Formats: sequence, structure tokens, C-alpha cells
Amino acid sequence: MQFNILTLFPDFIESYFEYSILKRAKDAGVVSVKTINPRDFSTSKHKKVDDTPYGGGAGMVLMCEPFFLAYNSFEKKENSKTILLTPQGKPFTHKISKELATYDELTIICGHYEGFDERIREHIDCEEISIGDFVLTGGELPSLCLIDSISRNLEGTLGKIESAEYDSFSDELLEYPQYTKPYDYNGWTVPDVLLSGNHAEINYWRKKEQLRRTKLRRPDLFEKFLKKELTKEEKKMLNELEKEEI
Ligand code: SAM
Repeated sequence: MQFNILTLFPDFIESYFEYSILKRAKDAGVVSVKTINPRDFSTSKHKKVDDTPYGGGAGMVLMCEPFFLAYNSFEKKENSKTILLTPQGKPFTHKISKELATYDELTIICGHYEGFDERIREHIDCEEISIGDFVLTGGELPSLCLIDSISRNLEGTLGKIESAEYDSFSDELLEYPQYTKPYDYNGWTVPDVLLSGNHAEINYWRKKEQLRRTKLRRPDLFEKFLKKELTKEEKKMLNELEKEEI
């Protein structure tokens, strides 16, 4: 996966690929990242990329020209998509992350200050994505959220791709509780079933805990899950949870 990031702060993006799982993915050639700084394409004397808004108001707006020149400065691959980051975009989800992981190349445009001149959004063929209903100072953190999440779906990023398959949201459910050593910490012990070695029982417990958590914490997801065709085992778990009054 080739990530091209249009950003006024390339060092911020590049540094993320120097740590942990994303560094490993980069070193293994699973992902590669190229930053393109619109400031390098500014034709003004002082490399200006923003200006005051027409009609007045606070803050500075990103100018069209440096962004169009930066965007058009490199060839895009065939199976490629462009994303423009804005709090006004489609909310980013696990499902969108998986869809985006099917492309060979993603170009991500980060805004800053008060955001983009509207013509950037209108005349670049892009999908507008938001990482949530809050406003950050720039698109750099959102772009890293997307890159990180999308990369987890690529073969070779995680030690085992199955790690992503059981994550929260992968099947409309939150993940089950996880424990590691020691068995007993301050008298707080790990559920015995997890030490039983009985994989069928462990899987049953985990799935039931997924249902319990999702029902309690994310009723919206739980409703969606209930609309699916449920297996006999899932129905049994739901009955049990009902009796346990959760
Ligand atoms: N004035 C804009 C508005 O109200 O829609 C917000 C601009 S924001 C301060 C600056 C830039 O940060 C945006 O252009 C966008 O690239 C990025 N940004 C901020 N919050 C974001 C979010 N929730 N999701 C995606 N990008 C965001």
C-alpha cells in the first residue's frame, strides 16, 4: 500500500513510521509513505499557503493553488483513491478501513487552520472522511489514524492477520476481555475457563462476553448484530444473558 500524504507538516507524519508496528510494516515493504508539502508548491515569495477568508471572519483558509499543484505533481496508480480529511466528512469506521485497505494507493489530504478553500474539495475527486464529531487543529492526526487502522488490515503488518479479525467492530461486536500473566494480581484472578485448555469452552465464553459487552456498552451495534441471522449457539448465549439480567 502506497500512502501519499499532502501535509504542511511532513516530519510529523514521517516520524510515525519510525516506531513499532508501522515501522516494521514499512521495513517489510507492506506499506510505503510519501509526503508532499503544498508549501513547496507555493508560487508566492514567502511560500504562503493560507489567506484570510472572503467575507471576513476569524482564521486563515488554505489556498487552492499550492494544494492543486501539490496534488497534480505525481502520477496516481490505477487502483488508487483520494481522501480529504474534514470534520464534515463521512465518519470513519472499521468497515471503511477494510474497504480502503483494498486499494493499492491512498492519497490523503490534510487541512490546517480554518480548513480548505471550498474549491479544493469541489475539484479534486475525493472522498471526504471525518474521524469523529470534534475538531482538531489539523489533518495530521486524523491521517495517521486512518493509515494506522488501514495498515492493520494488510497482510504482513501484524504478526498474525487473525489479530485484526477478532478486534472490536470486526463482526459488529466489541472484543471480549483479555488477560495475561499473572493469574492472581492483588487477589484479582483471571476467569478459570481461560486456563482450562478447553478451546470450545474458551470460545463460547469469549463470544458470550462479546455479546454482553456490546449489549451494555454499544446498544447501537448490538441492535445491528441482532438483525443478522443468528446461529443456534448465539441464540443460546442471548437467552443466558437475558436470564443473567444484563
Ligand atoms: N473550520 C473547519 C470546520 O469547521 O469544518 C475545521 C477546520 S480544522 C480546524 C483544520 C483541519 O483539521 C481540517 O481541514 C481537517 O483536515 C482537519 N480536521 C480537524 N478535525 C477533523 C476531524 N474530526 N476529522 C478529520 N479531519 C479533521
